[in-house]
Amino acid sequence: MKNKNELLGHVGPNTRLAHLGNAPLENHGFVNPSITRGSTVLFPDTATLRTENQKFTYGTHGTPTTDALCQAVNSLEGSFGTLLVPSGLAAITIPLLSYLKAGDHALIVDSVYFPTRRFCNTTLKNLGIEVTYFDPALGEELESLFKPNTKLVHLEAPGSNTFEMQDIGLLSAISHRHGCIVMMDNTWATPLYFKPLEHGVDVSIHAATKYPSGHSDVLMGFISTNEEHWNALYQTNLNLGICVSPDDAYQVLRGLRTMAIRLEHHNKAALDIAKWLQNRNDVWDVLHPALPEFPTHDIWKRDFTGSSGVFSFVLAADDEKVKSSANAFLDALQIFGLGYSWGGYESLALPVSLGDRTIAKGPQRGALLRLQIGLEDVEDLKADLERGFEAAKKI
Ligand SMILES: *Cc1c(COP(=O)(O)O)cnc(C)c1O
Repeated sequence: MKNKNELLGHVGPNTRLAHLGNAPLENHGFVNPSITRGSTVLFPDTATLRTENQKFTYGTHGTPTTDALCQAVNSLEGSFGTLLVPSGLAAITIPLLSYLKAGDHALIVDSVYFPTRRFCNTTLKNLGIEVTYFDPALGEELESLFKPNTKLVHLEAPGSNTFEMQDIGLLSAISHRHGCIVMMDNTWATPLYFKPLEHGVDVSIHAATKYPSGHSDVLMGFISTNEEHWNALYQTNLNLGICVSPDDAYQVLRGLRTMAIRLEHHNKAALDIAKWLQNRNDVWDVLHPALPEFPTHDIWKRDFTGSSGVFSFVLAADDEKVKSSANAFLDALQIFGLGYSWGGYESLALPVSLGDRTIAKGPQRGALLRLQIGLEDVEDLKADLERGFEAAKKI
């Protein structure tokens, strides 16, 4: 059979997702890779064992199943290497541990995913690593925040819950001028709608728990890097003994096959509902970077090729009724589930808490709610949201 790998670099996203990571002729012709469970891997002789001159050497270092998924993600990201780790949060903490040491300083965007901040404020702090949170709106002004010991910059666009965009190319270029490694949490866009490494990022991170898995049944993280930063990451992960199960890797590879068509639906349905919300008197604002009225929309339009299914809106509510209105709205929903995470096929709604942010504090009035628009029919979702608005009106 022809070598597909080269061809897959030049085809559309759906074609690519349908064939990535598969090598049927190496697997008795079966279309999908096998689920290879294992700790021990046998060597044919001592010469091979002593030189470890064999593709697979031990279960924690990878299996044919995890390798198939890594290859698929490398192809999507344009990365040199990808590590699979047991959660999206681990995909953030492991590179931070790999690239920072006592006495270093890191710049982290203030609109970061909250558990990233918690890790920085506890574990990193205890290791003697200093962190400064910066305004997501900064462009050239980032320049003034670098110190002689600044080693790493962590970006996330759009920001968690408040969805402000960042100029990733500009911020990466400034960071590189100061000799810093640039990480980006790209979970929202997936590599289909934004490819961080093409915009100067060194380490691209995904909660594969979200769209790659797509069915709310697997936890996983991807860490993809360029060649320069692969070794340090790989060694730290090896030292820590972190790996994922072949069963989970198989499920995520299965999820990738339909990711583009699922995202197309999430994209359209979420935008439809966001625009519908914009026109209501009981909604004070809609925070979605693909809406032309949203501040920083221009950056999204220039750099991203699509938007996913998660955004926030501000439910109209007087100051003293913010919590009770949010509760009434959410408790009246029958299709939207009340729960954490997103990226599955089902819709979710949550009250947003911005924790201890110091700069990107979000809207100051009304109740901020986050929606994940799933694969249900849009009209049913709107009818469900109407139930929420009706209930909130009675507060
Ligand atoms: C969910 C999420 C994560 C963490 O993923 P888990 O698999 O739940 O640990 C990281 N970053 C962002 C932006 C997320 O939304």
